[in-house]
Amino acid sequence: MDFLQTELEYLQKQSLFRRLKRLDGPQTARTTVENRPCILLSSNNYLGLADHPALKEAAVQAVAIWGAGAGGSRLTTGNYALYEELENTITRFKRTAAAIVFNTGYMANTGTITALAGDCDVIVSDELNHASIIDGCRLSRAKVMVCRHADTAHLAEILEQCRHYRRRLIITDGVFSMDGDIAPLPEIIALAERYDALLMVDDAHATGVLGRRGAGTAEHFHLEGRVPVQMGTLSKALGSAGGYVSGSRELIDYLRNKARSFIFSTAPPPAAAGAALEAVRMVEQQPELRQKLKENALFLRKGLAAAGYRVPDGETPVIPVHTGDAAKTMQMADELLEQGVFVTGIRPPSVPPGGSRLRVTVMATHAREELAYALQAFKEAGKKLGLI
Ligand SMILES: *Cc1c(COP(=O)(O)O)cnc(C)c1O
Repeated sequence: MDFLQTELEYLQKQSLFRRLKRLDGPQTARTTVENRPCILLSSNNYLGLADHPALKEAAVQAVAIWGAGAGGSRLTTGNYALYEELENTITRFKRTAAAIVFNTGYMANTGTITALAGDCDVIVSDELNHASIIDGCRLSRAKVMVCRHADTAHLAEILEQCRHYRRRLIITDGVFSMDGDIAPLPEIIALAERYDALLMVDDAHATGVLGRRGAGTAEHFHLEGRVPVQMGTLSKALGSAGGYVSGSRELIDYLRNKARSFIFSTAPPPAAAGAALEAVRMVEQQPELRQKLKENALFLRKGLAAAGYRVPDGETPVIPVHTGDAAKTMQMADELLEQGVFVTGIRPPSVPPGGSRLRVTVMATHAREELAYALQAFKEAGKKLGLI
């Protein structure tokens, strides 16, 4: 087992060793990290729903009715009415014909991609797509062509070369998880239609965030109905856990029969499904949460840029602050925590080599004073480390 120590020492030397940081409370705007009170600026709990009383109550109610565990796969004994209600609610929310729920977004991606593409097919995948998409591509045994990030000319070139495959599947994050930018969906849809390719969009960071009703990237561009496979999570803005895919009746029937992560895994915990159901209702009924999130995101982006950081323009709550190498990134994260601001440093392999950054995320529940405090900490820490 010597390789374990060798590998761990190598990670340490590269500043790539990962250690878990312990939170002593829920995902709230102010929380406690390893006994230190701080402002939380790295959570995917964008709308503040993860510890909302209504979600907690819905989870408790679901446990009271259905119990702690589902006891089986949906296709054996585990198909509670609760899951059907959740799928019907997602279907309505997404304005598609049907939806299927998975235990996690990760499993939604691996299960769906492996069901849709096989060894006669080609998948065209954006180079910054999430790891769960990459793993789904690998498991599928399809030919994988990696497209330069958001480069639709490159996408067209690849599709032109791949006309002879049985099926072409294009997959892209809607909002990119580490960069916070939005995929150029109108151009991608046009290419998918021109080259007879199937399009799948991962709305993990767009569900509850983008679009007039919070329904995601397709709604943001007013292109509902033109993305045949829409995947998302129940675990980020929706504050619970799980993944979903929505689309046509045939697509969903097909996935129920073919997606191995759906077939061979116990149904989601009732508490998670109950909370997610309540979260979708809240997203539908409280557009002001989304408005507040957007205002906070714009405020923080503007403040970081004014402080001298190179921050991309945008409106999403995911704000990359480039810090240079991995060691500097971790120093900056430590310095910020010292000052009472918790931001996670992101290093390879979560981002490409040389792409280390602080991944700053904002929530609807942050008060202006909290964001102003965080900006001051960013100014001081950045000056101390020579970043600004
Ligand atoms: C987080 C994430 C997933 C996985 O979702 P989980 O529900 O956390 O498993 C998939 N895709 C993207 C883009 C993500 O950011």
